[in-house]
Amino acid sequence: MVKKQMSYISEIDPRIAEILEKEAERQDYKLNLIASENYTSRAVMEAQGSIMTNKYAEGYSGKRYYGGCDFVDIAEDLAIERAKDLFGAEHVNVQPHSGSGANMAVYFSVLNLGDTIMSMDLTHGGHLSHGSPVNFAGQLYNIASYGVDKETEALDYDVLMDFAKKSKPRMIVAGASAYPREIDFKRFKEIADEVGAYLLADIAHIAGLVVAGVHQSPVPYADFVTTTTHKTLRGPRGGMIMCKEEYAKGINKAIFPGIQGGPLMHIIAAKAVAFKEAQGQKYKDDQVQTVKNAKAMAVRLIELGFDLVSGGTDNHMMLLNLNKFDMTGKDAETAFSNAGIILNKNTIPFETKSPFITSGVRIGTPAVTTRGMKETEMEEIVEMIDTVINNVNDRHVLDTVNADVQQLCSCFPVYKNI
Ligand code: PLP
Repeated sequence: MVKKQMSYISEIDPRIAEILEKEAERQDYKLNLIASENYTSRAVMEAQGSIMTNKYAEGYSGKRYYGGCDFVDIAEDLAIERAKDLFGAEHVNVQPHSGSGANMAVYFSVLNLGDTIMSMDLTHGGHLSHGSPVNFAGQLYNIASYGVDKETEALDYDVLMDFAKKSKPRMIVAGASAYPREIDFKRFKEIADEVGAYLLADIAHIAGLVVAGVHQSPVPYADFVTTTTHKTLRGPRGGMIMCKEEYAKGINKAIFPGIQGGPLMHIIAAKAVAFKEAQGQKYKDDQVQTVKNAKAMAVRLIELGFDLVSGGTDNHMMLLNLNKFDMTGKDAETAFSNAGIILNKNTIPFETKSPFITSGVRIGTPAVTTRGMKETEMEEIVEMIDTVINNVNDRHVLDTVNADVQQLCSCFPVYKNI
């Protein structure tokens, strides 16, 4: 399939064509357990690779700074209407190039530089753009970081309420990149209201689950909701902002002309396609299965003696604490990779190692679920994980697992189901 798509590239740039072919093979024959990745559909990729990339369209539908926007306007309007329908949002901006840009625009729309943002610490599961010192957010704002409870490794909303009263934030960010438990956005809204803060819900990881109703939606509660469109949502790589109507003008201005120029109209067309797919029953079934798969994996991992942060999962991901194996996340990531299993090292709450080393790995089920795998395959995968962890330095064992991975992957071709 990919080869056919690349007939022009092969002629013009054989080197890149070859790399694309290798990447396609990698995606087909490796087991992708990266919680933030997914396989987008051929229809979405067709829109992404389309002639819409040729069009400049600064501004918004009906009010552009360029002529010739008749058709891109229709595409953007469709993307917005479909997103509103999916999430029940009052206002949607589909122009953010990324999730980080979406968060930046929200901050810029209502905060002053130096204001306090209360958000989840990176090592407890938050995202860089929530206020890490190495990110613009940490450099431009005063960050009050919260984390999970030491015992339960989950959020304690009473503690968060006290912390909010003490730190007096102007904005609270609810959302994470590595938190395996359901987030209670309603409770977050009560906390935000108590201290007079805006609530931003960043659902980058869980957006698809929200669409399918397998995670509480923040839309009725949060002033702003941001997301990426490429994780569980399964669209093209990009971002999106939803908000209450009263913030619509400010959000639109913050994106353009605030932090972006011309929108990526081919990506916006692809977002529209992805949102249409997300309206279908198959998509919703896949999201339900994503959670079922994660839970099945967690149960089996625990049976085998693995230590899961917070003791399990409610969503599409889990975090393995590797301390009892006396192994770092970095070494585990390498061993898994040698066995054809792709995942990422990740900090765990109260981490003692650097983010380059870490004490844990993050495991997610969106990509394998999109391929069509179910609970039976999850159990198979857990057996492979167990074998790898207990044989990290045994090349022969890792090669055997790699062969099993290839066998399993060949039964679930990436582009058969989507
Ligand atoms: N917010 C959360 C919770 C994320 O997990 C991510 C990406 O991993 C982002 C924002 C940023 O998205 P992007 O990589 O598109 O900037």
